[in-house]
Amino acid sequence: MCYSLGMNNFQEKMDLERLNPILGQKKIGIFCDFDGTLSPIVADPSAAEINPVARELLVTLRDLVTVVGIISGRKADDLSQRIMVDGLTYIGNHGLERIQDGQRIISKEAKPYLTPIEKAAEEIEAILLPAMQLERKEATLSIHYRQTSDPQKAREQTRQRLESVAHQYGLKLFEGRMIFELRPPIEIDKGSILMELIEVNHLDAAVFIGDDITDTAAFRAASKLRNRGICLAYSVGVLDSGTPPEVRELADLTVPGVYGVVSLLSWLANRLSASST
Ligand SMILES: [Mg+2]
Repeated sequence: MCYSLGMNNFQEKMDLERLNPILGQKKIGIFCDFDGTLSPIVADPSAAEINPVARELLVTLRDLVTVVGIISGRKADDLSQRIMVDGLTYIGNHGLERIQDGQRIISKEAKPYLTPIEKAAEEIEAILLPAMQLERKEATLSIHYRQTSDPQKAREQTRQRLESVAHQYGLKLFEGRMIFELRPPIEIDKGSILMELIEVNHLDAAVFIGDDITDTAAFRAASKLRNRGICLAYSVGVLDSGTPPEVRELADLTVPGVYGVVSLLSWLANRLSASST
């Protein structure tokens, strides 16, 4: 039956029942990326808005589980202002900052890089192509090229120059969906943050939902923890037309777009409230 293995695997990955093992657990964490996960991808990143049903479900889930966290490349305060739900853990800049008890905290490892990042931003400002957007996020920089007339060409034209600016200031260049990022060369990513949140909250089970390359660090962390018997952690990949192949390959489960995330959150809310009564 080898010929059907691929298809079976593909179909199995769409089955929410795969998450059944977490339902009976005592301490559960639900973690979500923002753009492309809770909010549809839009041409202008500053116009991104959370899906209103997803927001309501985050409120419901917050009251049902130990921790609900948002882990994003955006600035933590930008994130919390777009979501506007109290009592969530907001992790910004891929883990380099967070909002804790209403206070924004930049990780101590990132602090020495704040000035180099500011200087790098000045240089990048001068090499931006028309319709490219530089987003200054204090601990990192994002360069968006989704709105340029030819995004692929824009990427090719700027990649090398950004690489050399990154090198000059001791930073690292990363790429995502129509985005470049300059980040400090620190071993903090969505994977290490997920592990930390699982550890400090003593979680028995966790779900991480994301749509991009940076999220796959958390996907890998989830399967590592599960395989070692440390935490029943599962990853969910959000699929749409622009999904990087790694997301589909590495996720334990896949859902179709933000709409699929809403269905998943709703399924979790229903099952968890049923098991808590
Ligand atoms: Mg995303």
